[in-house]
Order: sequence, then C-alpha cells, then structure tokens
Amino acid sequence: MTAFSKKFRHNTMISYSFCPVCGKPLSEGIIEGRSRMVCTDCGWIHYRNPLPVAVAYTVNRHNELLVIRRAHEPAIHEWALPGGFLEEGEEPHEGCLRELMEETSLDGQVERLIGIYHRNVELYGSLLVVAYKVVVDDHERMAPNHEVSEAGFFTEYNRPQINIPLHRLIIEENRRFEALAGTPGETVPEISGSF
Ligand SMILES: [Zn+2]
Repeated sequence: MTAFSKKFRHNTMISYSFCPVCGKPLSEGIIEGRSRMVCTDCGWIHYRNPLPVAVAYTVNRHNELLVIRRAHEPAIHEWALPGGFLEEGEEPHEGCLRELMEETSLDGQVERLIGIYHRNVELYGSLLVVAYKVVVDDHERMAPNHEVSEAGFFTEYNRPQINIPLHRLIIEENRRFEALAGTPGETVPEISGSF
C-alpha cells in the first residue's frame, strides 16, 4: 500500500458534521461517558477507534536488526522499524509479514509478540501498534520499495540512530526480554569478574 493511499484511506481524525447514514446534522452528546457526535434522527453514533498497525522487529541469522529509512510522512527521513496498517480480515502477524515483504521484499517468520502499544500520530490519529519479532533467513534478497529510501541489517553498535520513541521502546523491550530469557539478544550483558 502506498503512503498516499494510507493518508486518505485511514484518517480517523475526520470529524463528521452530517450523519453518513441519513444526512441530518449531527450533534454532540455524551455516550458511554465520552463526548461523541450523534445523529438525533436515526441514532448513528460516531465511535472513534484506533487504527491497527503492525511493526516488525526483524533480525537476520546473525541477530542484526533491520532498520529502514522512511521515504514518506509520518517521520520522513527517520530510521525506523518496518511496518504498516493491517488490512481488513488479516491476522496481525500476517499483516506484519506482508508489510515487511512490501517494504523490503524480505520473507520473514514471526518468532513472538513483543508488545501492544497505543500512540497518537498527527497524520493518522489514534493507533494501536502490535510489534512482533520476525526472523529472516535470506536477508541478501532485500529490495526496498518506494516507501523506503535506505535499509540494512545492523548490529547495535553500527546502526543508525533511531529517534521514533515507540520504535526505541520496542527495541528496548525486546532487549530486556531476551536478557531475561537468556537467549542471544542484541545486548545480553556479559557476566564477568567475580561476585
Ligand atoms: Zn442519521
């Protein structure tokens, strides 16, 4: 999916003035404890819900992390983890792998869920973000699409600075999980010296 279509298809910030069912003007009311736009004629209520997004924390077999440089807003030119909006009827983990494939042509496998988060993003409004750890076997096949200006697998010592707070959090939460689980994560602290 292009960033262009995302921009116009997925904006929860749209506020209706008229009922999309019967065309009558909407009024503001308190429904279930929240201020919502309501049609007093047919009873339609404008519920506003977050849009689901999947993010792929993707490593190769050397445990290097895939980071991409975004070619579109939001966060244009920023280094980030790949990801995008889920499609209707799609399992979140499938959407995660589809977005990875679309952006980089890489075929990944979901290893586990890292976490579920909420963020407000100016362009899209309220987002529900599902982050998975994904493993890619054949990382040589990478071919970034138009949404990505650069991409690569990096160790934590040589990778570009990631500024997007949620992506930093996902990286940190994965690091903490792997340190606790004792699996070879990015920065499992080495135990040295005597106690
Ligand atoms: Zn109505």
